Amino acid sequence: MKTPRIIVVGAGPVGVVAALACAQHGFAVTLLEAESKVDDSPRAATTHPATLEMIDRLGLIEPFIAQGLVARYFHFWDRPTRTRIAEFDHDLLRNETRFPFVVQTEQHKLANMGLARLREYADSIIRFETRVTEIRQDAGGVTATAEGTDGVEEFQADYLIGADGGRSTVRKALNIEFEGYTWPERFLIFTVTDDFQQMLDCCYRNYFADPEEWVNLFKVAGDDGGGRWRACFPGRVDEADDHALSDEAVHGRIQRAFPKGGPYNLVHRNLYKTHQRVAAKFRLGRVFLAGDAAHVNNPIGGLGLNCGIHDAIELVDTLHQFVSGRADESLLDRYERRRRTMNIQFVQEATIANKKRLEESDPQVRRANLDELRARSEDPVRHKEFLMRTSLIESVRKAQLIS
Ligand SMILES: Cc1cc2nc3c(=O)[nH]c(=O)nc-3n(C[C@H](O)[C@H](O)[C@H](O)COP(=O)(O)OP(=O)(O)OC[C@H]3O[C@@H](n4cnc5c(N)ncnc54)[C@H](O)[C@@H]3O)c2cc1C
Repeated sequence: MKTPRIIVVGAGPVGVVAALACAQHGFAVTLLEAESKVDDSPRAATTHPATLEMIDRLGLIEPFIAQGLVARYFHFWDRPTRTRIAEFDHDLLRNETRFPFVVQTEQHKLANMGLARLREYADSIIRFETRVTEIRQDAGGVTATAEGTDGVEEFQADYLIGADGGRSTVRKALNIEFEGYTWPERFLIFTVTDDFQQMLDCCYRNYFADPEEWVNLFKVAGDDGGGRWRACFPGRVDEADDHALSDEAVHGRIQRAFPKGGPYNLVHRNLYKTHQRVAAKFRLGRVFLAGDAAHVNNPIGGLGLNCGIHDAIELVDTLHQFVSGRADESLLDRYERRRRTMNIQFVQEATIANKKRLEESDPQVRRANLDELRARSEDPVRHKEFLMRTSLIESVRKAQLIS
């Protein structure tokens, strides 16, 4: 029997994980990426326990941990009074997972280490500078038309995974609606080399609630392993992008949040449009959507990529069960039933609630929210329940119950 071939569109972290999982299951893979290299702009880093288990299955856990930072705790703060409200400790999950911690490893590192592993499979074709423009499918297979440095080319396969990000060409080619909304404010991300742990006595993952301007503050290793801190702020709705990224506005924002007797050493600044959207369908015939192509959300809680990796693993396992004759074709729809439901129930719900909690302006509701977080952190049973949800262990277990 001919080895089934799968085209994966997009060499972001989700596409690379999907392609590597395909190769490891014995599929032939064609990975097509529009750009000339993996995008290394600062985005996801927070990788939760349930996702670490999947990265372990791929055989990448050692380099993944070695290139990142292990973050056992996360903290909620009240920004106006600079008070730490609650500490959550992943070690409470030690009987639930082999990885009772988060690992902060930048997403381009995962994509690059996955690509290096994928290159070891003789049946894998990896093409950069190859932008997919059209998809056709029929009873016999699927064809992707792509534009590359040598002109227009066609690629054939049995199935295709669209992991081509939020603006997915694959999703648009299938005419699948991206249901949801876009937040009116931009999210601003600044990276500095100054050591917040020393300045604030904070941990590697911190959420500062403030009705005027919330902040998320995280540590990542950086490509040189020297350590960087990333702060995420909401922009003002009426603020022009150029102004928000000007030296004056950027340094002003960081200094107002975390005053320091001297300038910060700023190494990166950017701003993002943020959405809460889920594709109306995750499968159409031989074509599937995964990662940001299927769902996008605000980054508070660090869930979007985690959920995308869960999509990739679930999808490839499902395809493998079907192709190896252990299930009939109707199983392929279970992918959507599991992953679309989990995205809505866990990721969309949690990220919208996280944003609301950080920006809450009603003083009574705000007080009640912070009291509730503190009470939860002080009660071992509720503390663990909260971590089961934030770590996505609960979502993975719930998904397994969907037939
Ligand atoms: C500031 C910020 C912080 C975040 N932090 C976290 C976090 O801590 N934890 C978390 O889980 N998530 C986080 N996220 C979300 C996370 O970055 C995304 O969910 C993740 O990038 C999705 O990966 P992906 O592979 O699906 O898509 P992408 O990373 O967007 O990759 C898509 C790839 O497809 C390629 N492509 C596009 N069109 C085509 C085409 N037509 N043909 C071929 N190739 C194409 C693109 O060039 C790209 O390489 C954050 C996001 C932002 C903006």
